[in-house]
Amino acid sequence: MSFMNTKETKLILNKLEINPNKKFGQNFLIDKNIVKKIISVSEITQNDVILEIGTGLGALTEDIANLAKKVYGIEIDHRLSSYLKDKLSIYNNIEIIHGDVLEIEIPEHNKVISNIPYTITGPLIDKIFFNTSIPVGILIIEKSIANRMFLSGKYKDYSRISIGINAFMKTVLKSEISNNSFYPIPKIALSLIKIVPRENLNPFLSDDDSIKFFLKFIAGIMPYKNKNIVNAIGFFLKNHNNIQYSREKILKILGGNNLENKKVFNFNIDEFIEICKLFYF
Ligand code: SAM
Repeated sequence: MSFMNTKETKLILNKLEINPNKKFGQNFLIDKNIVKKIISVSEITQNDVILEIGTGLGALTEDIANLAKKVYGIEIDHRLSSYLKDKLSIYNNIEIIHGDVLEIEIPEHNKVISNIPYTITGPLIDKIFFNTSIPVGILIIEKSIANRMFLSGKYKDYSRISIGINAFMKTVLKSEISNNSFYPIPKIALSLIKIVPRENLNPFLSDDDSIKFFLKFIAGIMPYKNKNIVNAIGFFLKNHNNIQYSREKILKILGGNNLENKKVFNFNIDEFIEICKLFYF
């Protein structure tokens, strides 16, 4: 186990002349019980090809590699990536890639295990999970975002990320993590979550172009979640296509069903996808 406590973490950071960078969300795991928990809920098998985003000092990497077929670790900070490449060079199933996860081409994988850089949560979720080959995810993320992903039935709390995640994924586990599990101590609350691809994924979400449109559609109508669906779609179409659709035209496309008085937050995930489909032309 490559686990390091606070003292050892500070020592190595000093040696590498790294002053943890907020912009990169550099809060390193220093709690071995959390590492154990992450490994346990990940249910890693010998067939798993794992993507670890932000390997840092490698709090998770070696434990993952001991159970998986292959680990691709991506790290933006070259001091950390060279340190870890060196340290883990005896493993022939670990590949540390120096780069920005949002910029590089991601190697094929079926599971993502990561204490993610919380500064890029939105674009990272978009890139990794909203596509045609959806992995299982075991992630430490900002608690407020985890709460929006795990729908409590309070439709008013729906956001773009709630709809997006629940369209593609089944949310299976959420647990809180003490801020003392990290060095330096983060200013935001964090949660551990597990999400798995939906078995009954709507076929509309299995094609790159329709996925792109769906993401634009939810981003376009969620700012109007307290408005009725016809108005929200009108705003979306105007912003998206720069075309003004009449209320009657939108209602006609919606196919009636007395939708004119139903507010956006009253629709469930699958209804959103069905409505989106009607405007994909
Ligand atoms: N996995 C380590 C751990 O749990 O101790 C570090 C986790 S720390 C929360 C996030 C890591 O992501 C940092 O090492 C940071 O340098 C790296 N990082 C930040 N932005 C990144 C990006 N765009 N692409 C790849 N890595 C990034």
